[in-house]
Amino acid sequence: MEYTTLNNGLKMPTVGLGVFTFSPEDAEQAVEVALHSGYRLIDTANAYVNERGTGRGIKNSGINREDVFVSSKLWPSEYENENAVGETLERLGLESIDLLFLHQPAGNWRAGYKLLEEAYKDGKVKAIGISNFEGKYLDELLEICEVIPQVMQVECHPYFPQAESRQITEPKDIKIMSWYPLGHGDKNLVNEPVFAKLAEKYHKTPAQIILHWHVQMGFIVIPGSRNPEHIRENIDIFDFVLTDDEMAEIAKLDKNERYYHRSEKELAQYATWKPEYEAAAN
Ligand code: NAD
Repeated sequence: MEYTTLNNGLKMPTVGLGVFTFSPEDAEQAVEVALHSGYRLIDTANAYVNERGTGRGIKNSGINREDVFVSSKLWPSEYENENAVGETLERLGLESIDLLFLHQPAGNWRAGYKLLEEAYKDGKVKAIGISNFEGKYLDELLEICEVIPQVMQVECHPYFPQAESRQITEPKDIKIMSWYPLGHGDKNLVNEPVFAKLAEKYHKTPAQIILHWHVQMGFIVIPGSRNPEHIRENIDIFDFVLTDDEMAEIAKLDKNERYYHRSEKELAQYATWKPEYEAAAN
């Protein structure tokens, strides 16, 4: 496993498992498979309603807690709940968390960020993250924050490599963590001829070439999979290096085009939606 160092000195694995859309049971199983396959980073969120399953997977793996880097995200309807961090830890079955994000720049996100800063000072949160805070939200956050975030989790892949945001994050050494790193199941991205060509050269799959590209770009990457073979494949990406020419060829795929378009109306809805933590044994 390769690690990167965050702007506060914390070491973080560069590849992890994301459990978005997983049932609590699927999260439990996939997390255990991943940790037994060498993963040391797991990414979940309040909104995925599988933090309890994720926590069980970590416990069942038998891997020491201090060897696993766990990230989760506060949902906007939690930003004014002063117990939001404690309740997240309780669901995960952890005493502290390595990285906690604000999931969306919705609702009272300024209050939410203060919650994270307080938990960071108390040692309950080892690093602070923001997710989907691009453009004006990132600008304002950097103006008002006391603690500069360590990580920004955003949609990022060869079709949309976050060129604009990186002009702001890179000088502040805020690491990009890529969501939809493989295009969320869109075959067009994985089937781009350049990846087939490089896969043949390096004896890898196109997905492994894309995931390696993320790491070589300096991103942290969290592909999602419930399939044990894919889970193992997605971490076996450290035994080759793409040349400058190959990186330049992949850079030509940048269309500055996202898969996911979020409207202001959706942001307003996010502020009132509440995850149903108690609806299932999650
Ligand atoms: P992804 O790009 O990782 O794609 C997942 C898809 O690729 C699935 O269909 C999976 O079956 C397939 N796949 C995985 N490994 C493969 C392989 N080796 N070969 C072929 N196909 C493979 O998209 P995702 O899972 O939606 O996102 C990854 C993670 O990003 C999530 O689990 C979550 O942690 C995070 N995320 C965060 C946000 C946010 O708002 N912060 C939004 C979306 C996702």
